[in-house]
Amino acid sequence: MSTITVHDKTFSTFLSAAEINKQVNRVADEINRDYQDKCPLFIAILNGSFMFASDLFKALNINAQICFIKLASYQGVKSTGHVVTSIGLDVSLKDRDVVVIEDIVDTGKTLHEFLPQILDQHPASLKLASLLHKPESLKYPIHIDYLGFSIPNKFVVGYGLDYDGLGRNFKEIFQLSA
Ligand code: 5GP
Repeated sequence: MSTITVHDKTFSTFLSAAEINKQVNRVADEINRDYQDKCPLFIAILNGSFMFASDLFKALNINAQICFIKLASYQGVKSTGHVVTSIGLDVSLKDRDVVVIEDIVDTGKTLHEFLPQILDQHPASLKLASLLHKPESLKYPIHIDYLGFSIPNKFVVGYGLDYDGLGRNFKEIFQLSA
C-alpha cells in the first residue's frame, strides 16, 4: 500500500486505477443500455467530477452531449444558510434526458438543493451518476441511479477529488489515514 502526503495530512491507497476503471466501465455499460435510442445531456459538476466525467463519457457508445457547471454555495444567507446556484448552464434542459455527473454524494445536501433547479426546467427525465457515495453520511433523500462505489465515511482524495486544492491529479483514490 502506498501513501501520499497532501498539505499536512497522510492518505493511503484505497481504490486502484484498475478498480476505478472497471467500475466506470460498468456504469457506462448501464448508461449505454438505458439510453440506446436516446441522446442524453450530461451535466458534469465541476471541479471534482472532471476525471470521472471524462472517462465515463469516453466509454459511451451512444449519441450524447455534455456540459459543465460549477455550483456556488453561500453560507449564512439566511439563518439556515446554504443556497446552491449553478454557474455556466447555458443549454436548454426542456424535454431533454438529463444525467447529472457528480464526484461524491456525502450528506446529499448539495444535490438536494441543486436537482430541483434542474426539474424546474422541465427535462424529459433526470438521473444521477456519482462515482462515490458515503451512505453513512447521507442526510437528504438522494437516489443515485448510476453509482461507482459505496465507501466508508472517511475523507478521500485523488481522481479529481481534492484536499484544499491539491490531490486531484492522482489516478488512484486515497483515503485519509487514521
Ligand atoms: P454533500 O453536499 O453531498 O454533503 O457534499 C458533496 C460535496 O462535498 C462533493 O461534491 C465534494 O466536493 C465534497 N466532499 C464530500 N466528501 C468528500 C471527500 O471525502 N473528499 C473530497 N475531496 N470531497 C468531498
